[in-house]
Amino acid sequence: MKLDSHYFSSIISRNGAKELLENFTDQKLANYKSKRNFDYGSYEKNFVSALSPALSRRIITEKEVIKHVSSQFSFAQIEKFVDEICWRTYWKGWLEHRPAVWYDYLSKLENFEDVKVNNPLYNKSIEGNTGLECFDSWVKDLLEFGYLHNHSRMWFASIWIFYFNLPWQLGAEFFYQNLIDADSASNTLSWRWVAGLQTQGKKYITYRENIDRFTDSRFSFPDNFILSDRETDNYVYYEPNYQVLENNATKSKNIGYMVVEDDLSFENIMKDSPVIIQSESYNPFGQSENVKSFSDRALESALENCKKNISKNVATFKWSNVEKINDWVNTNKIDEVEIISPTVGKFEKLIPSTFKKLDVKSSYFFHDWDKLFWKHADKGFFKLKKNIKTIVSPFWNMPLFNSD
Ligand SMILES: Cc1cc2nc3c(=O)[nH]c(=O)nc-3n(C[C@H](O)[C@H](O)[C@H](O)COP(=O)(O)OP(=O)(O)OC[C@H]3O[C@@H](n4cnc5c(N)ncnc54)[C@H](O)[C@@H]3O)c2cc1C
Repeated sequence: MKLDSHYFSSIISRNGAKELLENFTDQKLANYKSKRNFDYGSYEKNFVSALSPALSRRIITEKEVIKHVSSQFSFAQIEKFVDEICWRTYWKGWLEHRPAVWYDYLSKLENFEDVKVNNPLYNKSIEGNTGLECFDSWVKDLLEFGYLHNHSRMWFASIWIFYFNLPWQLGAEFFYQNLIDADSASNTLSWRWVAGLQTQGKKYITYRENIDRFTDSRFSFPDNFILSDRETDNYVYYEPNYQVLENNATKSKNIGYMVVEDDLSFENIMKDSPVIIQSESYNPFGQSENVKSFSDRALESALENCKKNISKNVATFKWSNVEKINDWVNTNKIDEVEIISPTVGKFEKLIPSTFKKLDVKSSYFFHDWDKLFWKHADKGFFKLKKNIKTIVSPFWNMPLFNSD
């Protein structure tokens, strides 16, 4: 799905993300349920929000999206959209219950270095040079815009695994490196879902007629385009290990707040307190220039937003120079640094290990939204879905039970 340059410059900022949400709500949301699965090839023609790069960094939060859309629609009218917003929360919670899934994926990736060197199809695939028109076109979009429509992501992953017989982990890595909404939970778990590893025995195997119908017959297919139902990895059951999440800030006098690229919501920050913001994207997994530049610009915009609306007492740091955190702590006489709790992914281990080396206490803040949902994310989505209406009701602006 092609995105225009206006889209990119708008969505890095809170105001831009809000504007995109407003336009989507006014123009497309009413048709979301019936049209969301169609990928007509461009942002203008499609009926999805393209809010994911903002949501995955919490430039705008799930709660804010729900509050906005519920001022114009009843729950029944937009239940499908609400469900999709909650899928993101669900995947995040599911992985929080089972961090081992992420670490197993990372360690498996290391075994596939030989595929990268020796399998020509892998290299043709990531260059968009396989000769399969739809697939090559998605690769080009992904490399150029850093975004694909959800259905195209599903077809892409299905073709990668069941047509090209490539390891799902390498596909997940390729997505993670190139998607501007790259998210450890949504990406890894969606690839596992397609491969049949999320729900035992349930793989997602696509077929020509399905792609044809939902892409408005934009692509031609070879006669032998038949995906094979093959085993991927063995299904492994991961025991959920849920811990009750509570904010653990103490009653310290001088609290400072640290903001990192994964959560730019500022939801926990007391006005006019000292704040330190990451100034440059952190890139341990080889993310593309596109993704880095998006994150850098989002951080820049967060800094401006902070100065203007939250606190003028703001400093910046890079992960390559965490000494600056110490300087900021000393200058402001901070005795505790509060951070929005990092989720499984880039920062989960980095933040605590950094604070072990610094001479200041740190504490975690959890979004109320996450706390409400994650306790239902230990099993399948259906368990969480049963609770969505109750959980969102305090944030809902219109009567929840209108049927039209
Ligand atoms: C193989 C694969 C990999 C994926 N990798 C990512 C990823 O790295 N990051 C990411 O944010 N999403 C990922 N998704 C989920 C989904 O494709 C995107 O969230 C969605 O396409 C974003 O477009 P949108 O904002 O227009 O979605 P909309 O349809 O407008 O939905 C609104 C919001 O709901 C959430 N959402 C919608 N669909 C899903 C879904 N299936 N799973 C989880 N959340 C959803 C997103 O936050 C999205 O922004 C992946 C899906 C697949 C099949």
